[in-house]
Amino acid sequence: MKYVSTRGGAPEASFLDILLGGLAPDGGLYVPASYPQVGRAELERWRELPYADLATAVLARFIDDIPAAEIGRLCRATYTARVYGHGRPDSDAAQIAPLRWLEPQLALLELSNGPTLAFKDMAMQLLGALFEYALARSGERLNVLGATSGDTGSAAEYAMRGRPGINVFMLSPHGRMSAFQRAQMYSLADANIFNIAVEGVFDDCQDLVKSVSNDLEFKRRLRIGTVNSINWARVAAQVVYYFRGYFAATKNSDERVSFAVPSGNFGNVLAGWIAKQMGLPVERLVLATNENDVLDEFFRSGRYRVRSAAETRATSSPSMDISKASNFERYVFDIVGRDAAVVRRLWSQLDAQGVFDLSSTAHWESVRRSGFVSGSSTHADRLATIRRLHERSGLVIDPHTADGVKVAREHAMPGVPMICLETALPAKFAETIVEAIGREPPRPAGYGDIESRPQRFTVLPADVAQLKAYLGAHAG
Ligand SMILES: *Cc1c(COP(=O)(O)O)cnc(C)c1O
Repeated sequence: MKYVSTRGGAPEASFLDILLGGLAPDGGLYVPASYPQVGRAELERWRELPYADLATAVLARFIDDIPAAEIGRLCRATYTARVYGHGRPDSDAAQIAPLRWLEPQLALLELSNGPTLAFKDMAMQLLGALFEYALARSGERLNVLGATSGDTGSAAEYAMRGRPGINVFMLSPHGRMSAFQRAQMYSLADANIFNIAVEGVFDDCQDLVKSVSNDLEFKRRLRIGTVNSINWARVAAQVVYYFRGYFAATKNSDERVSFAVPSGNFGNVLAGWIAKQMGLPVERLVLATNENDVLDEFFRSGRYRVRSAAETRATSSPSMDISKASNFERYVFDIVGRDAAVVRRLWSQLDAQGVFDLSSTAHWESVRRSGFVSGSSTHADRLATIRRLHERSGLVIDPHTADGVKVAREHAMPGVPMICLETALPAKFAETIVEAIGREPPRPAGYGDIESRPQRFTVLPADVAQLKAYLGAHAG
């Protein structure tokens, strides 16, 4: 399996070549040169596999420079009941990503039972194992530098904690995360985890990371890397649970299902698109946004208009508060027939004008045939969705998942099961849950006292020179 850039100007690369990197050298994103195809007989065989073996089978189709036995070892070490057993008391921890039926044709795929109670653990934990493997092989070390407003940073820290060869430096806005999110990150005692509370907002944190990354000499000397949502291994690891969800919802591989996916950076739903491209019988990919409806606007109108920071609203599903969708380029590459010249033209127009429009081009028909439909929710919609589901079934869902359930209902088709991806547990967003149902969400066992554990973090001003000095003193 070779990887090519969506902009067509970078050398072909292998999986390990791109594992630790970000953008391709030409500014594009790496994608498989072609998608592996999975036939019906293979689907029937995969249907029977436990999660770790299914992950091995899927990932082996994307990786040809790690021996299959080694991929299997990494997957079996990652996808365990110990790592993914933090869900609701009645969740089936023995089954990674269990499916829960809410109504006869509506199901919840539980992806948030990992250590940080959000779906990002599904891929990030494997990424930690892959990083450790790759660094041990090359004898190198890596200092991961990131900025977080909550979910990504904690998922990265829990995936990398205690791993030899890796340090994590995570910037977060001082005093601006929820008490639960802060406790999750700052209570980690591992020597390779460095929490940096920046005196500023999330954008300041991101700007600091960009400034450090733009100093190529510094970046190379300190071996600084990132784990953001364009990381290809994360996308590949997410493909697995679309297969798992499909198998759990169907009896044989002639049936079709739809998926509803709360979306921000287009990473999660991109994995669904890839599963469909591989031959998984997917009817609809239902993309849900919140008030930050960049992607909903595109799938309704053909117009992709990125937003400014000032136009990006802070909502009650904060992990979807995006101004542009960093993985979207990978989907557009497929839609324009994998013509890198078209992608280059569209993205230079985006850089210059902040918008491109496919509606009056031949590509719009490809979008409409691609299976994507979309919708968005408001704060009031999410509260109503959480309340209604709770009244009917007793189940509490988080506001991001509620975005998905709300839009899923608008696109349900008779006879086609709709699988809603659960992207976080409600315990992480207690304030909104209290607003919706008048009481605190349940907390998984072991998380009851998290705010009272000792916390470790360093406060720094939003100043590049001071951040660099700190990295220089602590990088491994
Ligand atoms: C990251 C995240 C999302 C958005 O996922 P993308 O891959 O960026 O589309 C949705 N919900 C939660 C809880 C998240 O953490």
